[in-house]
Amino acid sequence: MAGEPQADCLFCKIVAGEVPATIVRETETTVAFRDINPQAPTHVLVIPKVHYPDAASLAAAEPQVLADILRESREVAAEDKVEDRGYRVVFNTGAGAGQTVFHAHLHVLGGRGLQWPPG
Ligand code: 5GP
Ligand code: ZN
Repeated sequence: MAGEPQADCLFCKIVAGEVPATIVRETETTVAFRDINPQAPTHVLVIPKVHYPDAASLAAAEPQVLADILRESREVAAEDKVEDRGYRVVFNTGAGAGQTVFHAHLHVLGGRGLQWPPG
């Protein structure tokens, strides 16, 4: 069934507590944890508990959960005190754009100057 946990998915395992992560926030529908290879002082991933391979497929199937993720990204930025300076939220979508984990996740990046356009 759409959204069901996938046995071979790293982020489903983090949701299930089978792989450890530094979790900063959790809601009924989302988990937020620090990226293992941070690209900025604040680098947190906000993910849905349900499994969809990318943000677009999550949006198509469960748009409310996508809204939950965006709401949570603001809470993460506020808790890490990067909200005032500005922060970036990114959904890499597809291998060509750098997506390596095919369970939808929003990068929250902040705490340093951020170039635009990104590389
Ligand atoms: P993507 O490249 O798919 O947009 O982002 C995947 C992110 O997951 C990368 O930034 C990578 O550092 C992070 N990541 C990969 N494996 C793990 C892990 O086991 N734990 C945590 N916390 N982050 C991970
Ligand atoms: Zn998954």
